[in-house]
Amino acid sequence: MVPFKNVFTGAETRDYSRAVSSQKCLRAGGKHNDLDNVGYTARHHTFFEMLGNFSFGDYFKDQAIGFAWDLVTGTFGLDRDRLLVTVYHDDDEAFDLWRKIAGLPEERIIRIATSDNFWSMGDTGPCGPCSEIFFDHGTDIPGGPPGSPDEDGDRFIEIWNLVFMQFEQPGDGTRHALPKPSIDTGMGLERIAAVLQGVHDNYDIDLFKKLIAASVDLTGVKAEGKERASHRVIADHLRAMSFLIADGVLPSNEGRGYVLRRIMRRAMRHAHMLGTRAPLMHRLVPALVDEMGTAFGELRRAQPLITETLKLEEERFRSMLERGLRLLDEEVGKLSPSQALPGDVAFRLYDTFGFPLDLTQDALREDGRVVDSAGFETAMAEQRAKARAAWSGSGQKSTEKLWFDLRDEAGGTEFLGYSALDAEGKTL
Ligand code: ATP
Ligand code: MG
Ligand code: MG
Ligand code: MG
Repeated sequence: MVPFKNVFTGAETRDYSRAVSSQKCLRAGGKHNDLDNVGYTARHHTFFEMLGNFSFGDYFKDQAIGFAWDLVTGTFGLDRDRLLVTVYHDDDEAFDLWRKIAGLPEERIIRIATSDNFWSMGDTGPCGPCSEIFFDHGTDIPGGPPGSPDEDGDRFIEIWNLVFMQFEQPGDGTRHALPKPSIDTGMGLERIAAVLQGVHDNYDIDLFKKLIAASVDLTGVKAEGKERASHRVIADHLRAMSFLIADGVLPSNEGRGYVLRRIMRRAMRHAHMLGTRAPLMHRLVPALVDEMGTAFGELRRAQPLITETLKLEEERFRSMLERGLRLLDEEVGKLSPSQALPGDVAFRLYDTFGFPLDLTQDALREDGRVVDSAGFETAMAEQRAKARAAWSGSGQKSTEKLWFDLRDEAGGTEFLGYSALDAEGKTL
């Protein structure tokens, strides 16, 4: 929704007031980070597709609820007795509309007071209460309804989130009504596919079944027992890394490149756990392109680059992975049963063997062990301070200073891209 931010606040107008979208989403860092859930819950991916509908000061709460109810119970034909919804605790308007439009009984409209049901982009900007629609996958699956102590189970799965954008926060702690309240919704394609295909688990939908089958085929290891999670992680991460590369990201040690590298290395550890000793991930790319390359042409176009990048990263990381895992084993052997892995060991794995912190955490997870992450941060900060001291002592100019000096020498430049045309007559 970020590209629409100014449309919601009224600062920008478009020649349409409604929109629908299908977005590629990645949740592997920052505010929304589902990396730790992947492979272990029925409903989380790092990369997934989100469908949405938007109103820019056009329809509001009543129609958004009406459209959503119509789609899930009418078009999709879902059993209304298996649906329940949440509203923000003080949003009586939404509560009443769910009663009236959907005819839902009061006990299936759950009031939630946490930020789960209040959406904002940050401390400033448009915001508002949300209403989430959940599907009940049945009593044989552990988990309670939203708001209950065991809500993190996978029985009740959120399929759709409706955001009622009705306020704006200027950033001084106050909140005022938006002149034209708006709608922003998001529905997880894989989750609704699971419901419509009559399966509980996202990883059992047609698309994931094929990717997991390819992983089983190439490794010769069944997706059962403790190997099941590894195949799921591999299938999920294969999508995330391939789409990132198709969209122009390459593995590196910072920013989004590091998000990609973390995903790649995490997948490689799971491939290693399945017993593969030669690069695996790049051999799965054809299965992904077969599944998704028609809908996403960029995937097919980037296939050679994706394949090369995955192969190279895996070749480069392989020996470090093996050596690092040996060190990790030795260090864990020295600990008492529930003791956390010391931060300096996790840091050594990071610094010397290229283990992202989440890879180490994931490796320890099977034994129910954690990393002393505060200790890790301290070790990291110490090393940064040392590097800074060495750098400032070296007499080299900082990058920032270089740019300023360059500007002083060459003079500023004016950006013409909005109005000027290039040699071929296209807007720059
Ligand atoms: P959950 O509470 O299950 O983690 P969420 O509230 O974090 O979901 P939203 O931020 O509301 O999710 O995203 C909108 C929709 O996108 C969700 O209703 C869900 O259908 C889907 N979705 C969210 N996160 C994921 C994910 N990691 N993998 C697959 N689908 C997701
Ligand atoms: Mg979430
Ligand atoms: Mg939620
Ligand atoms: Mg939600």
